[in-house]
Amino acid sequence: MTMAPKSVLTDAVNASMPLAESLFREIGEKTAAAAGVSREPYGPGEQTAIDILTRAGRTLDLEIASDPFGNLYLTLPGRGRSAPAWLVGSHVDSVPSGGNYDGLAGVVAGVTALAALRRCNVVPPCDITVMGIRSEELSSWYGGHHDGHIGSRAALGLLPAGELESAVNSRTGRTLREHMRDAGFDPAAVGRGSPHLSPDRFKGYLELHIEQGPVLENRGIPVGVVTAIRGAARARSCRCLGAYTHSGAVPHEYRSDAVMATVELVRELDLEWERVRAAGGDLVFTVGKFFTDAGVHALTKVPGEAQFTLDFRSQSAATLKAMKVLAERLARDIGARRRVGFELGQFSVQQPAVMDSGCRSRLLEGARAFGIPHMEIASGAGHDAQDFAHAGFRAAMIFVRNSHGSHNPDEAMDIADFALGTRLLAWMLMQEQES
Ligand SMILES: [Zn+2]
Repeated sequence: MTMAPKSVLTDAVNASMPLAESLFREIGEKTAAAAGVSREPYGPGEQTAIDILTRAGRTLDLEIASDPFGNLYLTLPGRGRSAPAWLVGSHVDSVPSGGNYDGLAGVVAGVTALAALRRCNVVPPCDITVMGIRSEELSSWYGGHHDGHIGSRAALGLLPAGELESAVNSRTGRTLREHMRDAGFDPAAVGRGSPHLSPDRFKGYLELHIEQGPVLENRGIPVGVVTAIRGAARARSCRCLGAYTHSGAVPHEYRSDAVMATVELVRELDLEWERVRAAGGDLVFTVGKFFTDAGVHALTKVPGEAQFTLDFRSQSAATLKAMKVLAERLARDIGARRRVGFELGQFSVQQPAVMDSGCRSRLLEGARAFGIPHMEIASGAGHDAQDFAHAGFRAAMIFVRNSHGSHNPDEAMDIADFALGTRLLAWMLMQEQES
């Protein structure tokens, strides 16, 4: 049998759910922290998850491999072994005291889909490899300069070797290079030779992930098909410099009030956000930090300095650029009018990653065929899938509804929703033709 009917696939996925539940339970228990789970990149928790998933791969008689960076690969051989394979992945690490499903759900979904295919005795058209990815969450454990997503970027040849030194573990003060080596892997292989994963060897990259925002839950929809992963334009240390003066004695026209000027800047950007949204554009905008100098400020002083951050995120590179240009123009205009100087500094720009349109329509077709309630949705959070897209892979993502947000111990995914997402994933992996 080559192509399982939908009902056979549904039954096989449902019958494989106890495996998924036992993987979630065992990995959750063995990586439990005082609150939630802690699976530190290149630390014992991440290794525990990899070990348990490896054992599951062995039980299912999958081919087991790794790369110099410690990523895990579990492969179900297909009919055409030389044909481009599907890669299904997500990350196995977590933030400190995080939830059990962020990342792990995608790897467990891949393993469960392979178990289901085994169960209904089908040989897929091409190899299917499930990838357990290391160290996606590096930024919550390591300071210094780095862009996170270490396992995927190392395997894709996108990790500059300099980040191995400039990423420093906040707890130990030691570099990523040292931690990667201590965990038994080969940091010297970063950037050496051709990448371990190249797009020509793969049909594409698929990632199931819990939604980390409230949209699916609020709309009462269990499954999302991701349109794009938002890019970002961020200014991390903006300043507005005015002059500290007496709050009672100085009339408006003689003030250089850093707070009032910054408030105007932020308000103008907020109004632009509303205009972009009203025009059907995609944008989120956050001023996550906004403060005066606690050593100098006082009730009776006109504030002479304000510090703040700007964080724009959008599926559109053009929108990100327009917001950056607008912020810089407003800073000049408001600064001149209000007698203050803005220093926004450099914006760090991360390009959006648009998901492959062929894969997206296939996933929508599959969701309709199974009668799975679904919607298209943007990803506001970053994922390994963006690195695969940037490396030239066809990449797509399935979101599963999740309550109480993410990056906290209270993540709550209903296993019935997970089964729907996994069913869609398994169906996608069995499709014969290119989309
Ligand atoms: Zn994640």
